[in-house]
Amino acid sequence: MILRKEAKNIIDNTIAPIDTVEKISLINCHARILAEDAISDVDIPPFNRATMDGYAVIASDRPGKYEVAEDIPAGTFPKVTLTRGKVSRIMTGAPLPCGADAVVAVESTGGFVGVGQMAEINRGVTIGKNVAPKGEDLNKGDLALKRGVLIGPAEMALLASVGCDPVTVYKKPRVTIISTGDELVEPNKIPAPGQIRNSNAYSMFSQVSGMGIEPAGLYVASDNQDDLEGKIRRASISDFLLVSGGVSAGERDIVPSTLKKCGYDIVFHKVSIKPGKPVLFGKGKDNRFVFGVPGNPVSSIVVFELFIRPAIRKFARMPDPGDAGFMVKLASDYKRRNASREEYVPVKLVRDGSGFVAELVSYHGSGHFAALATANGWIRAPIGTSKLHAGSFVEAMLFPPSIQKMGIV
Ligand code: AMP
Ligand code: MG
Repeated sequence: MILRKEAKNIIDNTIAPIDTVEKISLINCHARILAEDAISDVDIPPFNRATMDGYAVIASDRPGKYEVAEDIPAGTFPKVTLTRGKVSRIMTGAPLPCGADAVVAVESTGGFVGVGQMAEINRGVTIGKNVAPKGEDLNKGDLALKRGVLIGPAEMALLASVGCDPVTVYKKPRVTIISTGDELVEPNKIPAPGQIRNSNAYSMFSQVSGMGIEPAGLYVASDNQDDLEGKIRRASISDFLLVSGGVSAGERDIVPSTLKKCGYDIVFHKVSIKPGKPVLFGKGKDNRFVFGVPGNPVSSIVVFELFIRPAIRKFARMPDPGDAGFMVKLASDYKRRNASREEYVPVKLVRDGSGFVAELVSYHGSGHFAALATANGWIRAPIGTSKLHAGSFVEAMLFPPSIQKMGIV
């Protein structure tokens, strides 16, 4: 059995980032990864631009009364070259006329008057005042965004401004989910005696789609090697295959042997964590991967967060925030008899001044997923620590979408 950190390193060293790209409309680029440098095809701003409504002036002209030569709303281009003793009405976003070198904000004047009338300029300005110079942000031919960036609102604005539409981005990974177990029925069925509803497919679907990836396939297989093999083979064109259940040491746990039969190499099996110990990571042909996830619903959720999310991120070139937690104050003692594994305990994190207090929720183990609906985060009990003391600082983690659950965003 290996440590979580070792498992994480192995995953990191085994997975190569995706190389295939696609060209898509800019409007669909949120949260995608840019696959080419974006070069500006314009200067930004494209002209000397007024940043206030007011009068375009020659700065060396002093306050006084000046004839209005022209009206320049945004979206027009000035026709009149400003000469000494004249000003032009100008609106925010409009190009400064030739001859002008500053803008006096309307608040520092007697107000707007029409072309040919006399405007009252009450305050002097220095050269460049209230003007954003042409090319101040970017020049034509400049690198606007480097290949590999995650596209968010600011990047969308930049891509739009430099004329990048459509955009070349890296393809999204294909992820297929297979739930295994003879006992499983779907949520819209009434379970017969001995059956339970398949919940892992739904929690995993939520975790995968939360990453902006619509799972490519969703299968349920029985604990029968032929059935499972058929579904694994059908799903194995996926970049990631997530198989829930059947990965422990029971006689019905046929996932490891079936994966081998289907051509996957088992890279590791079993990690020293609780819950989630039986987790399996395997490699198929050509940068394709499989995770075997223990069937207990809490294990499935934790294993996804600890290993699968970082693996998909690495593959998809998404930034990795790392897996270190942040320190929170524990509200009450947490004791455990067996401290041989690193344990993840659901907690409710409550704001406490500038930090957080972790309150334990009623939780009795890896089958108890109902407890997770009352929690918004996790604490990590290190190997060898059998008691976490009330009032001490412990490491906590937020698994998406904890932040929304906490009302922080
Ligand atoms: P396994 O990992 O197959 O030994 O399953 C461990 C436990 O998780 C058993 O109680 C299963 O019934 C349960 N389980 C397995 N798969 C699922 C699933 N897809 N949804 C909910 N519970 C599951
Ligand atoms: Mg099973």
